[in-house]
Amino acid sequence: MQSHSDSWRESRLRPALSSLKPYVAGKGFGEISRKYCIAPETIVKLGSNENPYGPSPKVKEALAAISPERYPEPEKLLAGLANYTGFPEDMIIIGAGMDGVMDTLTRLFLEKGDLTFIPTPTFSYYEILSIMAGARPIFSPRGLQFEVSGDLPSDVKMAFLCSPNNPTGNVMSEDDVRGILEGTEAIVFLDEAYVEFAEKSLLSLVKRYDNLIVGRTLSKAFGLAGMRLGYALAPSWIADQYKRAAPPFYGITCASAAAGSAALSDLPFMRESVKMIVAERQRLQKAIASSPSEANFLYLDTKQPSSEIAERFQSRGIIIRDCRSFRGAGENHVRVTVGTPSENDRFLSAFMEICE
Ligand code: PMP
Repeated sequence: MQSHSDSWRESRLRPALSSLKPYVAGKGFGEISRKYCIAPETIVKLGSNENPYGPSPKVKEALAAISPERYPEPEKLLAGLANYTGFPEDMIIIGAGMDGVMDTLTRLFLEKGDLTFIPTPTFSYYEILSIMAGARPIFSPRGLQFEVSGDLPSDVKMAFLCSPNNPTGNVMSEDDVRGILEGTEAIVFLDEAYVEFAEKSLLSLVKRYDNLIVGRTLSKAFGLAGMRLGYALAPSWIADQYKRAAPPFYGITCASAAAGSAALSDLPFMRESVKMIVAERQRLQKAIASSPSEANFLYLDTKQPSSEIAERFQSRGIIIRDCRSFRGAGENHVRVTVGTPSENDRFLSAFMEICE
């Protein structure tokens, strides 16, 4: 094998990579099963904000009928999204998860030297995308109630807001979002990945502000995390440009398109699973005195090192999220996804042993 020096290898890579920390995902069944010799089927996974009820049964039928030898066709999916959101198709953009949508959007707007605005702690992919584009993120620590505080510097090119915010669970008020939109020249990306679990969406603002994009996903309320299907509502001038920069077939697959349109054709199923999760969220929140949340997870101050707490849960077969990898979350926070009643009972009895 031809082998080059380390300095040669480094000189080939983009310099921005040196300040990049890779995305840290929640732990999986396999990793915890191997580490603690626990049967995977007995593990309770509350670390990745998935929906334990999964998607509508119609999704399985749709998946059984796909033609994998054909390239995907997005028409039915777009019609389903238009029906669900009440937006015309020319304002809907799709991608491989909301991650894929954000990836294409940052390629549209960001280049070397641009500034992005990121209130912390929040979803860490915004930082990764900014750095990969050569942009410089400006981090703005949230206030005591995790509200976005501080004005956007005037030369910010793109701002990333998240409501409900991951990992803190709080929402932004319409007034606050409008204030930001009206006071900036930046493109504002409002991430509503968890909005179905919240009281209110700010989607309608997309029709009033030509600098606002609202990101959504089928990964959470619709139970399709494994399908990697996301979308966003954008002013048509942005949606038009998106089509130019997006990967072929927008990164969707026959399977994800079929699963997505089937899930969107059964909104009562999604709404029922959201109802159960919200009811359990209230029960859990009372029991553990976590921060109030409008998402499918709770954010908890552990008062002691979160790494140790998370480890103790994991050794009992319960995966929760140690939040140290979220910039600005410090060393003492964990995030717990709301599971089924029996999963939450398992979590609660471990919580009594570990945290009380
Ligand atoms: N935004 C937020 C706030 C998230 O928590 C996640 C998932 N972890 C995403 C976006 C990405 O969602 P998707 O699965 O659609 O890529």
